Amino acid sequence: TGLPDSTLPPFFSYQDQALHAEGVPLQRLAEEHGTPLFVYSRAAILDALAAYQRGLAGREHLICYAVKANSSLAILQTLVQAGCGLDIVSGGELERALAVGVSPDKIIFSGVGKTRAEMRQALQVGIGCFNVESRAELDVLDEVAREMGQRAPVSVRVNPNVDAKTHPYISTGLKGNKFGIAQEDVVETYRHAAACAGLRVVGIDCHIGSQITQTGPYLDAMDRVLDAVESIEAAGVKIEHIDFGGGLGIDYQGNDNPPAADALWQALLQRLDARGFGDRKICIEPGRSLVGNAGACLTEVLFLKPGEQKNFLIVDAAMNDLPRPAMYQAFHRIVPVQPRAADASGTVWDVVGPVCESGDWIGRDRALAVHSGDLLAVLSAGAYCMSMASNYNTRGRAAEMLVDGTQAHLIRARESVADQTRLERLL
Ligand code: PLP
Repeated sequence: TGLPDSTLPPFFSYQDQALHAEGVPLQRLAEEHGTPLFVYSRAAILDALAAYQRGLAGREHLICYAVKANSSLAILQTLVQAGCGLDIVSGGELERALAVGVSPDKIIFSGVGKTRAEMRQALQVGIGCFNVESRAELDVLDEVAREMGQRAPVSVRVNPNVDAKTHPYISTGLKGNKFGIAQEDVVETYRHAAACAGLRVVGIDCHIGSQITQTGPYLDAMDRVLDAVESIEAAGVKIEHIDFGGGLGIDYQGNDNPPAADALWQALLQRLDARGFGDRKICIEPGRSLVGNAGACLTEVLFLKPGEQKNFLIVDAAMNDLPRPAMYQAFHRIVPVQPRAADASGTVWDVVGPVCESGDWIGRDRALAVHSGDLLAVLSAGAYCMSMASNYNTRGRAAEMLVDGTQAHLIRARESVADQTRLERLL
């Protein structure tokens, strides 16, 4: 049945045989608000942020939360109020960022395909930095900024060609990936940027992938980036800040063992100091590691469907709510909200959703003692779940709640069919 508490993410626990987020029983939230329901712990988010803040204490730094991981306004607001800047990848994310009152100079705009309209929008509000990913993008940004009588603050994303040792779909720092500028072209790109009247070089950045569980790839990437800084500055272009992106992994399985953010940064700062760059401003763009383990998705068991080859547990959450298993065979722990006595038969289930795709599965081969009507919690669902959710099968996106101590706040209402069809027109 339930897992021992020690393997639950921090701030989730069984109290009196009932799963809680902080001081709130999850069964009650599901009864009041229905399922599927995302529940986040505010303390878990702030605790994850505090590890980075400890790691970077005493250094000039800016922690820009990567909005894409979970872009719900109350989540952004929580992080911004705690001092974060925001890392955005679209004009839409820029509007979300402004809606929660982040200071525009604490916004970093990442991504390989910014449109002219998005560049204009970001220049108008005065964001802190554009992380540029190609020579063509530099030229367009230069043109747009000059048209507006401005100089766009830029950093060039270096592709350090290191293997982040993660899933190929979330590995971004290899030569075969679409991201960044190859090491050998970096100096020439900076020379060019420095000569553009519409650009102002402020930094350098890299991001090697996501769900990284080892320190080694980060140290390798840092060495390559610092090599690049040395060559760029030798060519006469000053680099003010170094942005190491995001990517730190979280514990999904109970034994993933990623380094803690403060330990990772202790190692990285040591390397930075050893190479004589200890005075530089550090920027980072963590997403998953701030919110991933702070969220769970509650789902009700609809039907038990035992079979000859497989037993299926059909639940009311699906790939449109929790896309990571379907997209990259990701693993989420699934635990009962009110555990029953262990099932003597030890039945093993594939937990699947109602969507008409065989790819619609949430967990495979899980030993669970459940009856129909029981609630399950899909753990570590705070990052890249709600922000990737879709309306496939005309399923409304789930509601979201943020727990704070013994209080629970509805931060997003459940999406209705009327919400979904609002923009559609009959012939
Ligand atoms: N920065 C950039 C440029 C990214 O592409 C991403 C994620 O894809 C992030 C930051 C956040 O990564 P993570 O959620 O793994 O920390």
